[in-house]
Amino acid sequence: MINQTNVNYGKTRSVIRDIFEYGKLRKAEIGEENVFDFSLGNPSVPSPEEVRTELIKLISETDPVALHGYTSAQGDFSVRKAVADDLNARFKTNFTADSIYMTCGAAASLCITLNALLNAGDEVITFAPFFPEYAVFTANAGGTLKAVECDKNFQPDIEKFAAALTEKTKAVIINSPNNPSGVVYTERVIKSVCAALEKHKKNTGNRIYIISDEPYRELVFGGAYVPFIMNYYSESVVCYSFSKSLSLPGERIGYIAVNNAAEDSKEIYAAVCGAGRALGYVCAPALFQQLIKRVLGKTVDVSVYKMNRDRLCAALTSYGFDVVKPDGAFYLFVKSPGPDANAFAERARAHELLIVPADSFGVKGYVRISYCVSPHTIEKSLPAFKALADEYK
Ligand code: PLP
Repeated sequence: MINQTNVNYGKTRSVIRDIFEYGKLRKAEIGEENVFDFSLGNPSVPSPEEVRTELIKLISETDPVALHGYTSAQGDFSVRKAVADDLNARFKTNFTADSIYMTCGAAASLCITLNALLNAGDEVITFAPFFPEYAVFTANAGGTLKAVECDKNFQPDIEKFAAALTEKTKAVIINSPNNPSGVVYTERVIKSVCAALEKHKKNTGNRIYIISDEPYRELVFGGAYVPFIMNYYSESVVCYSFSKSLSLPGERIGYIAVNNAAEDSKEIYAAVCGAGRALGYVCAPALFQQLIKRVLGKTVDVSVYKMNRDRLCAALTSYGFDVVKPDGAFYLFVKSPGPDANAFAERARAHELLIVPADSFGVKGYVRISYCVSPHTIEKSLPAFKALADEYK
């Protein structure tokens, strides 16, 4: 018999993908402009102009054999050095090229890191709501994912977190700005998470790693401060992706950064290289490695996302919805007016609004609205949201 766990993963689509696929069919039926698809986190803002110009230059001016050839397994040295230098300049860290491992986006960064750190039976803690694939990636690395609740503002609940730590806990995944809530964890919360881990280590000798999943690091509004985990906790690994910050999700490019202040940083980096090898994830796309080197520091124009957030937040609040106003990413977390978020999402569908119930993100009674759509779509969808709100009055 073949591996039934993987048969199961292959056969069961995520709720998000289900709704997205439904949306494609529905758009074919009634016209694209009549379906308000807020299901997927596919960036709607184009990449910065430099991405296009540098790509054209790379293709027209570089020896194609070198450009498209294999790089070192962990990524081209000059690219890794450029990433390390960029991080050092921005966050006062001291990464070297050998702290960085180039990957096919955050999903690969997470899979490699979890496989590098976990032994069979280890536990990984994250905070609900969380990106549902964490459960799949953790299980595949031999571990179990445990979700700890957040408070009403969707900041991690530190008391519950401290109580959830056991001798089996190997790592904590934090994701800020968060998918699906859009919330940026405060510096106070980050410090408290680190303090709880230090205390646990002092009491038990158990060293727990923080894995910071940061595809939305640059997508913040109004100068919200996103603490860089390496400045707070030494046993840490950053899983980064350019999917959202440069609107390049289909190109599959990101990196892992291992904190070289960690007690066993060399061993962690070796394990990252080993897990990359064992998973067949060596040599991230060579063309996009070179592109990244040329556009480091550039980000998409986040003002469009901010405009969408402001418009949607204000409108939904005025219709009577309970909205968590987020400081980052491009998601809005909205309380379902009835207790069952699935039923609410179904009723929204009758108004051609495609929104995602948050049960699979580990929180009941909420829906996620991905507002990475055009401002025109937001505007056109508002009467449908109003009609939906009226049904609950
Ligand atoms: N982590 C989070 C929180 C995400 O939202 C996503 C994608 O939406 C990923 C990881 C995966 O990112 P990538 O497409 O770069 O693999």
